[in-house]
Amino acid sequence: MSDKLLVVGEVRDNEIRNVSFEAIAAAKQIDSEAEIVGVLCGDNDLTSAGNDLITYGADSVITVTHDNLKTYTSEGYGQALLEVIDELSPKGIVMGHTAIGKDLTPKIASRLSAGLISDVVAIEKEGDENVFIRPIYSGKAFEKKTFEDDFIFVTVRPNNIAVLEKDDSRSGEVRTKDVDIKDLRTIVKDVVRKAADGVDLAEANVIVAGGRGVKSADGFKPLYELADVLGGAVGASRGACDADYCDYALQIGQTGKVVTPDLYIAVGISGAIQHLAGMSNSKVIVAINKDAESNIFNVADYGIVGDLFEIIPLLIEEIKKV
Ligand code: FAD
Repeated sequence: MSDKLLVVGEVRDNEIRNVSFEAIAAAKQIDSEAEIVGVLCGDNDLTSAGNDLITYGADSVITVTHDNLKTYTSEGYGQALLEVIDELSPKGIVMGHTAIGKDLTPKIASRLSAGLISDVVAIEKEGDENVFIRPIYSGKAFEKKTFEDDFIFVTVRPNNIAVLEKDDSRSGEVRTKDVDIKDLRTIVKDVVRKAADGVDLAEANVIVAGGRGVKSADGFKPLYELADVLGGAVGASRGACDADYCDYALQIGQTGKVVTPDLYIAVGISGAIQHLAGMSNSKVIVAINKDAESNIFNVADYGIVGDLFEIIPLLIEEIKKV
């Protein structure tokens, strides 16, 4: 086994996703002496994204480009990654716990007959041993896990591991590896985005989430304005999605997205257990609800009891003054 740790980065719309930098920071925490090799897959030149990985701590980067890697498929990315793994024999792999990470890593782990610890939110040291901490029971408890053998394979939840400071003076090789991605049983012809453009919910530092209390699609407009002035994204409860106030792509919770922003503002959301499963690990939670007995106040750091349609415009006005 080499002294290399592989970090699988993700590029979307030619931009590298922040969780890729968090995965590098996690790899450094796992072994500060290891050589960190980034891997990127796509269908066009990824040199610039590769250089970004270097400035955030990767020592070198391998890019695999192929027409069949234009959009993610587990087969295509799996073939690419397995070839890179075959060449490098790394001592571990780190990737973001994203939709792609969740889909791809079990397949790779099974091919390698390796263990996988997913959804890691922190890494601790016990002597020389890495201890990986991950939420269980919808975020109500945390478990600590270690690997029985030496090979480390983890996915890290976005927004939990602090990225290393960007260092533009760092340099490293970014090279392309030729891999023939073939015999795919599935090819994605087109991707139609439902969610509005803007800040990615999973990586947003600030989320303004609306619930059934917002009452209509129009009622969400002030929430978008608040998210805008805070540089954040809009999310929703399933109640709001079921009522057709917004798209299911915005749903946060047990059957939606799991988010951990620095600031989560829950607006007109009652705080059902299934919703809390997706947001209760946010760093600061602010709840706005007209019912003082609402369960959301049990997880909130700050609560405002009142009518959201009065409070949100006031908040926007005050924040704009800052
Ligand atoms: P409600 O419970 O109706 O709450 C609306 C809130 O708005 C109330 O607290 C009310 O006081 C407040 N309000 C009303 N008007 C105003 C106003 N003018 N100003 C301020 N506050 C106001 N839910 C999720 O969110 N995510 C999930 O992933 C999810 N997965 C589920 C999976 C399963 C298997 C099941 C059974 C349920 C799931 N649910 C999920 C649904 C969940 O149980 C709740 O039904 C849902 O979260 C309720 O949404 P809500 O809080 O927006 O609506």
